Amino acid sequence: MASIILESIFLKRSQQKKKTSPLNFKKRLFLLTESKLSYYEYDFERGRRGSKKGSVDIEKITCVETVVPENNPPPERQVPKKGEDYNMEQISIIERFPYPFQVVYDEGPLYVFSPTEELRKRWIHQLKSVIRYNSDLVQKYHPCFWIDGQYLCCSQTAKNAMGCKILESRNGSLKAGRSHRKTKKPLPPTPEEDTMVMKPLPPEPAPSAAGEMKKVVALYNYVPMNVQDLQLQKGEEYLILEESHLPWWKARDKNGREGYIPSNYVTATSNSLEIYEWYSKNITRSQAEQLLKQEEGGFIVRDSTSKTGKYTVSVYAKSAVDPQGMIRHYVVCCTPQNQYYLAEKHLFNTIPELITYHQHNSAGLISRLKYPVSRHQKSAPSTAGLGYGSWEIDPKDLTFLKELGTGQFGVVKYGKWRGQYNVAIKMIREGSMSEDEFIDEAKVMMNLSHEKLVQLYGVCTKQRPIFIITEYMANGCLLNFLRETQRRFQPAELLEMCKDVCEAMEYLESKQFLHRDLAARNCLVNDQGIVKVSDFGLSRYVLDDEYTSSMGSKFPVRWSPPEVLLYSKFSSKSDVWSFGVLMWEVYSLGKMPYERFNNSETTEHVIQGLRLYRPQQASERVYAIMYSCWHEKAEERPTFSALLGSIVDITDEEP
Ligand code: ADP
Repeated sequence: MASIILESIFLKRSQQKKKTSPLNFKKRLFLLTESKLSYYEYDFERGRRGSKKGSVDIEKITCVETVVPENNPPPERQVPKKGEDYNMEQISIIERFPYPFQVVYDEGPLYVFSPTEELRKRWIHQLKSVIRYNSDLVQKYHPCFWIDGQYLCCSQTAKNAMGCKILESRNGSLKAGRSHRKTKKPLPPTPEEDTMVMKPLPPEPAPSAAGEMKKVVALYNYVPMNVQDLQLQKGEEYLILEESHLPWWKARDKNGREGYIPSNYVTATSNSLEIYEWYSKNITRSQAEQLLKQEEGGFIVRDSTSKTGKYTVSVYAKSAVDPQGMIRHYVVCCTPQNQYYLAEKHLFNTIPELITYHQHNSAGLISRLKYPVSRHQKSAPSTAGLGYGSWEIDPKDLTFLKELGTGQFGVVKYGKWRGQYNVAIKMIREGSMSEDEFIDEAKVMMNLSHEKLVQLYGVCTKQRPIFIITEYMANGCLLNFLRETQRRFQPAELLEMCKDVCEAMEYLESKQFLHRDLAARNCLVNDQGIVKVSDFGLSRYVLDDEYTSSMGSKFPVRWSPPEVLLYSKFSSKSDVWSFGVLMWEVYSLGKMPYERFNNSETTEHVIQGLRLYRPQQASERVYAIMYSCWHEKAEERPTFSALLGSIVDITDEEP
């Protein structure tokens, strides 16, 4: 598929192709590629593209311009008055699309309404860029709408009537475009390119220094979100100029351009297997088998579970004699001369070369390697903030689309940042949070970045209420996800959920950051079913005695170890206790822990040394893991790192 240049939700006016067809306005997802402008239905529930409703060929477009706004538009297309746009009580006000533009092509004008002026500008700029070599660009246009059978600007009644106003083509780019028509269109600039300062080519780093400088390969494309960022092109190499523990590194591309990149979008060239579709890091043997069973001829290359530093190729094949099919695992062997081979001694210098060979020749394997199977759709991960150093987010870049729920701090909404990126927006009810302290800490929390943590993207602090912007998780909170009775979870899926949480917690433990309120209600599930930990550390800023005092009705008593209940002593080991309770919630599909007791009975019960029972779905080994989290003495409880080891052992061994 052609690569997407822009993607936004806009309001689209019906085109009234027949005189009698009604005038209506619908929210549509617009996608711009080099060859088409298409629009789709949008599933707001799931944050996904729905069916295609129409498209315009780029080469047929003759003009892209703003439109003079309507007189007295209804509220949804009205520019909000100052201070009105982020009034949380009036949700309808922020679902506005007040900035119209027109895309004129052979069937007449298509009117599109943008939620923000900035987004309209960006789209017009990009559209003008992709049409700049079109042969039928016009010099005149209609500045006002065509409505009720005529143009409001000139009263002409034909939709295709020639424009009445001369285009101000500043810098004369349209004319120049026509006279310099080329057969191949150059790629359009990225949105920020025109504001980016191109530096002259720097001298090559000195050979000795070059030896020490780290080279990386991009695993994903990255479009700069602000001027300090550097664009990444999947598969390209970059030189790292400044590496740190932080999630953004300074890098240089092969053209000498420098800027910041999200460090989780690249991998060291030395372990660049990650760029291949067939390679799945951190996948167990049983997970590989599960995935492979979906497709005959499928194969996966993964890290060997039994031999560290080695790789295994897993293949699934059926045959006339074995219609059920079988899965075989082959360890990639290495000769003393560092050459690789699989079943027979066909030697290769690199693993990719070996795979390419076996994609065409079975040469001793049960089948040739037909289709690469990957664990998850390899979509780009979240970045730690929306661009390097951007922690204060401009609320004008946000569009609010749907209410997701209400929590301790108030309403949470789903929306888009710059019309394109999914985000969740927590609107902090005034008086519910010690805001100044939180804002001070937010910069630190933004640097916590892990694939199993719900990423904090930034904050809007210049208005009240303040907003906290985070990664959007389409399947909502884990507790509800578990309680949905329609779903039957396999034991392996339940263990996978615990593993996801444990990975996030191992990371927080390594950063010596305490969660303080780990529970299924504070984990979220994304569209791929991956569980991530949310609201880490937030409990410190809650202003509500019922929540903060261990005697309060909202205190997470059922997730707390004795030392917290008795002396408010929090530590990584109190998080470990909560993790055990979370595992129990997962395996009992969202039951309330100690459901027959009230809070003070629970406290008494726990202090006396009684513990939660084994949920039916949990095996003895799984129960042993959760039970180990409830050791009375904090120091006797395992670390998250040890817990993760135990969980992985089970994933490898239990079917
Ligand atoms: P608070 O931190 O104010 O207590 P919560 O995080 O509990 O709020 O959010 C309330 C509800 O909003 C959750 O139960 C969940 O359904 C929804 N929600 C919160 N954050 C997200 C998110 N990032 N993505 C999707 N849904 C979310």
